Amino acid sequence: MEWLYCDFHIHTTWSDGRCSVEEVIELYGEAGFDVIAITDHVLDSETAKASELQGKRIPAVSEEDFPVYIDDLRRAARFARERYGMLLIPGVEITNDTSRFHMLCLDIKEYISPDPDVETIIENTAKQQGVSVACHPCPRSHSGQNPSAYLWENHERLAGRFDAWEVANRDDLFSVVGLKKFNYIANSDFHEEKHLLSWKTLLRCEKNSEAVKEAIRSNERVSLFLYRGGRIR
Ligand code: ZN
Ligand code: ZN
Repeated sequence: MEWLYCDFHIHTTWSDGRCSVEEVIELYGEAGFDVIAITDHVLDSETAKASELQGKRIPAVSEEDFPVYIDDLRRAARFARERYGMLLIPGVEITNDTSRFHMLCLDIKEYISPDPDVETIIENTAKQQGVSVACHPCPRSHSGQNPSAYLWENHERLAGRFDAWEVANRDDLFSVVGLKKFNYIANSDFHEEKHLLSWKTLLRCEKNSEAVKEAIRSNERVSLFLYRGGRIR
């Protein structure tokens, strides 16, 4: 069995990414990646309302748009498989800027509200056989901010609740997630082409959604990889 080159945190023009879903598939497909997850922002209602009142709507997938978003990603997944033999997993990044946590919900089928507490969102993800991942738990060097401060402050309690934590996000490595009790993966948090050069995950499993999700959950054959450009294979 080969190691799969994976990136589970990618934004597109469905939210604040610069590339369309098709452009993302082409970039990762041409580079030779095996598995990608598209995870556009879903915003908590308080932040969404406040941003609209200020006349600056933050780009995100709304509950109303969600079925169209998932249909688009399913169509894109077929294209990615046919064209590049690449697995595309639909997901979202729950973006709760009111309570200050970001988390990935991978392979979900129904809309998941970002408004309840973290444990409820993890449960709602598990009910859909999805995978939950805590995002960038520590301050990031490119922004100096920590939009997931809540996860950092509660990491002892939440450690085993998530299926995995981001041990790396784009250029940053987070030491806390390297503690033995944390399952981990590494992602680019891709928003534009230059973000392709960043930390990624290697998983040793079959190239299908169920096997990939199980490999994240068991976290036995997982490794980090800093992609520096060019064709992987
Ligand atoms: Zn985030
Ligand atoms: Zn993100």
